[in-house]
Amino acid sequence: MDIALQERLHLALTAQRRAFDAERMPSEAVRRDRLQRLLGMTRQHSEALAAAMAQDFGHRARQESLLADLFTVESAARHALKRLRRWMKPRRVETPLHFLPGRNVLMRQPLGVVGIVAPWNYPYYLAMAPAVAALAAGNRVLIKPSELTPATSALMARLVGECFAPEEMQVITGDAEVGKAFTQLPFDHLFFTGSTPVGRIVAQAAAKNLVPVTLELGGKSPAIVDRSADLALTASRLAFGKLFNAGQTCVAPDYLLVPRELAEPLTERLLAEMRRMYPRIAGNPDYTAIISPRHHARLQGLVDDAAQRGARVLKSHVDHPDDRRMVPTLLLDVPADAIVMQEEIFGPLLPVVPYDQLDDALAQVNRGDRPLALYWFGQDGAMRDRVMRETHAGGVTVNDCLWHLGQEEQPFGGVGASGMGAYHGEWGFRTFSKEKPLFIQSRFAGTRLFQPPYGATFEKLLGLLKRIT
Ligand code: NAD
Repeated sequence: MDIALQERLHLALTAQRRAFDAERMPSEAVRRDRLQRLLGMTRQHSEALAAAMAQDFGHRARQESLLADLFTVESAARHALKRLRRWMKPRRVETPLHFLPGRNVLMRQPLGVVGIVAPWNYPYYLAMAPAVAALAAGNRVLIKPSELTPATSALMARLVGECFAPEEMQVITGDAEVGKAFTQLPFDHLFFTGSTPVGRIVAQAAAKNLVPVTLELGGKSPAIVDRSADLALTASRLAFGKLFNAGQTCVAPDYLLVPRELAEPLTERLLAEMRRMYPRIAGNPDYTAIISPRHHARLQGLVDDAAQRGARVLKSHVDHPDDRRMVPTLLLDVPADAIVMQEEIFGPLLPVVPYDQLDDALAQVNRGDRPLALYWFGQDGAMRDRVMRETHAGGVTVNDCLWHLGQEEQPFGGVGASGMGAYHGEWGFRTFSKEKPLFIQSRFAGTRLFQPPYGATFEKLLGLLKRIT
């Protein structure tokens, strides 16, 4: 391993730790100031950041950057600023009768120095939204963004360098090697967003130092269409959810489960909706390109593999884009062993899988790893409740796609192979805090009666406690 790199990382961590040790419980005013600077930085440089993302993707719809990378960070920062005082306040916790007049208090304390590792698909949001939570909770932050978005990562490093002291927050750019060295640092908490295979490696690296981790990973998120669904509405919302950022979204619907008799009509409507939203693919400023030639080739490989195994390939458009934009593609009659049914797709391809009974659809979902998201479309409340009870997922949107991710009042995070831990709003504040229970004993306390020498009083009291608790 590169000794100079390790040394650079250790120096950055040590400087932050020293600064944290000098101010272990930053005041509300200090935290507010940090959040305001992050907010100001985001607002002031929105267009430049969107341009950097466009450069990194080859093409990134400007509106997608403004909505999904910039507005989201702004709104997370404003939400935190509004609720910071309440989040920081120690909480009174109920105290059982036999401990009175002692009292319980739960205090929220910053952890120290936290590491954030971000992926490329929403490069600003996935680096800065966790940073909002970490700063609100009073921590120092080191961020390692993705090497696949070099322009955005470099701009982020420069802007953070201008708006924050290096011992407050710092961006360390670099490739997977840097990521590897970064995740071996003895942070007080490591927050990783990325793929499940890399998440596994990161968890192992963190375990060596007993660093607690939050893992925001991916997986195959199903969309289940019920017989009671409004097909027109379902098609329009699925097309949006699948093609936003050209399907390069952790919570994009990965594959569709559709009642057999609805598979053809829904496919037709989906293709029509895709053409309505994107009248053309080649040169369309609203349609984002695939991040790299390697990812483009991987997606094309998924289509070829499915086709070779007998799948029907339906493209929404006849265009031939001459850049990395990829024509949306529906895949029908896909055999279960096709790679597209094994791996997370992360692009504008959508297998349409028919089912006869809901049991079959649920069995298919439950055979796989627990997904990051699940979508259900329909009007039949009993069916919906059954699907919610009998499947696991990191989060759910009913009758639409993606939008549960925008809820600051709800936790966002995976389950099983799609991740562990959560953030957004107060959930993020708690992720980056130690919730420290304090029991404040009073001068006169009944607990004295439990002290030795043990005798009849002890037995009587224990008997009484058993009856009243
Ligand atoms: P990735 O796992 O390849 O990379 C993520 C980050 O980890 C990058 O910064 C990379 O440099 C770093 N890295 C790579 N190898 C490493 C190693 N051995 N040790 C430490 N760090 C290493 O993921 P990606 O391709 O950038 O992103 C796509 C994946 O992220 C998809 O699976 C997607 O579902 C997932 N994702 C999840 C969420 C979520 O919120 N749960 C959000 C976006 C993306």
